[in-house]
Amino acid sequence: MITVTKTFFPPIVEYQKQLQRIWDNQWLTNRGSLVLELENNLKNHLGVSNIIAMTNGTLPIQIALKLFGNGGEIITTPFSYVATTAAIVWENCTPVFVDIHPDYLTIDEAKIEAAITPKTTAILATHVYGNPCNVEVIEKIAAEHNLKVIYDAAHCFGVTYDNQSIFNYGDVSTCSFHATKLFHTGEGGAIFCKSQQLYDKLFYHHNFGHNGPLAFFGVGINAKMSELQAAMGLAVLPHIDFIIAERKKVVDFYNAHLDFTKLRKLTIREKTQWNYSYYPVIFESEEKLLEIQQKLNDSNIIPRRYFNPALNTLPYVNYKAMPIAESIAKRVMCLPLYVGLSENELELIVTVIANAVKQSSPR
Ligand SMILES: *Cc1c(COP(=O)(O)O)cnc(C)c1O
Repeated sequence: MITVTKTFFPPIVEYQKQLQRIWDNQWLTNRGSLVLELENNLKNHLGVSNIIAMTNGTLPIQIALKLFGNGGEIITTPFSYVATTAAIVWENCTPVFVDIHPDYLTIDEAKIEAAITPKTTAILATHVYGNPCNVEVIEKIAAEHNLKVIYDAAHCFGVTYDNQSIFNYGDVSTCSFHATKLFHTGEGGAIFCKSQQLYDKLFYHHNFGHNGPLAFFGVGINAKMSELQAAMGLAVLPHIDFIIAERKKVVDFYNAHLDFTKLRKLTIREKTQWNYSYYPVIFESEEKLLEIQQKLNDSNIIPRRYFNPALNTLPYVNYKAMPIAESIAKRVMCLPLYVGLSENELELIVTVIANAVKQSSPR
């Protein structure tokens, strides 16, 4: 079976070597030496100044909203994974959706100002599929209206924009190290920020609010990464250039062999060094998508409808029409993309799609 993604497993001896260190240290969590080493290696690898490793990629979003949201309105994208919106509602804030750009699929910065009210406290936007938002314009709007900017950069490991890590943009950026993501620690994630003062606050929040053994900065939660998670990260990180290069080969194959008069691919924003994290294709209609999905499934190929449904249609938010996001969500599907996908398998995928789209007209 060919699935949309497959977790990268480092050679087991490399993982065992990291586990041995944990046994030697007799230390499993509370920011042990493997977590500290992973944070350090990630800082160097990514070119970021502050990072806190966490237990998943959702808690950093919640912690950022705890700090910046103040129970207010959060301007956000309807086109992301559900965690983005769920975190807003979970933190007792109100999501205010702004439709997406039809090509980049990120929040449409031109529509943000119209959605700002006196209750707006922050913007939470997703660099969806690792494709950066228009960070310059968003930063300008946020400065003018005194809003905080949080980027859900869950898909962005290794992405640079204008020659620096995408994690350096916004007040804070978050990333997921889930097993399905490009770089992973099984479950895991991180938060990034440039300000040292902010780092301290985020740090307290992720460790029960402690700012001393018997002192508390405020309400906190437990989002600490464990040594077992860090061990996986330390075993995967040395392979990251290989992982990205192998994924690039798959993307290059799709780009060379799919017929783009019948379907559309993602437009990557200029000045971006992308990470080949997902391969979304957009069909002319949902009917066509379902037809092609069925034919792929018949050949044991399991793509995924990332991201569907549009988040403004979730049962726990106030629905407001987002025509572009809703239309894209119905017509987009991610093709298999992972290390180890063979040329034969890729040929099968593009052949099934080519046969299925034959009768459809160009978009
Ligand atoms: C994966 C993902 C998350 C959540 O990350 P976890 O590590 O699974 O908690 C959040 N936002 C987006 C856009 C994601 O794709």
